[in-house]
Amino acid sequence: MALLLLLWQPLQAQHVQAMKDICYLTSPKMAGRGYVKNGHHKAACFIREQFKLCGLTPVSDKWFQQFTFPVTTFPGKMQLSLGDKMLTPGEDYLVHPSSAGGKKTLPLAFADSTDLNRLIENSDTCFVISQKVYELLRQSEDRLLYTKTKGAILITEPKKLTWSVGAQPFGIPVFRMLQSVFDSSAKNISFSISQHFYPAFQTQNVLGMIRGSEQPDSFIVFTAHYDHLGMMGRKTIFPGANDNASGTAMLLALARHYSIAINKPKYSMLFIAFSAEEAGLLGSKYYTEHPLLPLASIHFLINLDLAGNGSEGITVVNATEFKNQFNLLDSLNTAMHALPSVHQRGKARNSDHYYFSEKGVPAFFIYTMGGAPWYHDIHDKCNTLTLSHFDRFFNLITSFAEALQYK
Ligand SMILES: [Zn+2]
Repeated sequence: MALLLLLWQPLQAQHVQAMKDICYLTSPKMAGRGYVKNGHHKAACFIREQFKLCGLTPVSDKWFQQFTFPVTTFPGKMQLSLGDKMLTPGEDYLVHPSSAGGKKTLPLAFADSTDLNRLIENSDTCFVISQKVYELLRQSEDRLLYTKTKGAILITEPKKLTWSVGAQPFGIPVFRMLQSVFDSSAKNISFSISQHFYPAFQTQNVLGMIRGSEQPDSFIVFTAHYDHLGMMGRKTIFPGANDNASGTAMLLALARHYSIAINKPKYSMLFIAFSAEEAGLLGSKYYTEHPLLPLASIHFLINLDLAGNGSEGITVVNATEFKNQFNLLDSLNTAMHALPSVHQRGKARNSDHYYFSEKGVPAFFIYTMGGAPWYHDIHDKCNTLTLSHFDRFFNLITSFAEALQYK
């Protein structure tokens, strides 16, 4: 009976507003929602305003939960030439997220795994090294932090460049470049890189809640990280449309939905937009160490990251840990003809559900499959998402959350 009732839901058009939210969160003023130009804080303020607009209430009188973490940023100059050829940041190369800054012209030399000591002791050369040599250096007590070498170009094998967020910086500038871009005839490298390391950068999680009508002390929690990688220099933005403006837009769609009187939930609902996920799940880790509501009051947590596709279905992390809930989600999907498939996966430390489930909170991380391949690069833009399955995904989540409150 309950299941039949749950299936009776009109298809709601959420994707139009979601596209507006994603395009706004990925616009240049948000500066890639990282730690330059105050991007992370602008995004947090936007989410807070949306929470306020739909009538959510703050938790313990505060919308923000602040915390600090170490981060390396690249706020200014970003120039690199091989020989006479100036390369384009983001397209041709990435500065390593933990690179030092500096301005130099250096001769280039190649080093293989038998040359590690030469590489570490040599003080006037920029070395070109392979991924394998780089890993050897990393393993030997992070010798890149202390090497006397003046710089390194790391030649990476994959077909695309993928950036991330760095903490403690190396002692030298390090660049990543594809084999196809690297000019082996170049005799020297010139670079001018502005880098700034913050040992304790302050950022914030954003929280809002709706009190449940029947069991207000039990919570369904929806989470999504709103941070991304920020900028690499003054011009190169990492917009993070699929990762994770899309999940943030889904979080906002759910907050708006449950704020409407006829959708008022039986359980309380908590919405958390995490920061510093890309720096190592730091916002959610901090929350689980400093919870504003008892973790034991969480009936179930649904983490949304990479929510912008779905043409090839969804994957549920922790499916094997919470089999009953997975079977419920899967059967709802089949009955609703919502998404093409629901894949199951075990535990993974790959998004903000992780520290919750490690502390015994029942949690799924659900991500969508299909769509454009862009990830952690300059191409993950709002116009690469179609949101063709966004409404179906939304309806599946709300039906699942409804069913969880019957259990
Ligand atoms: Zn993400």
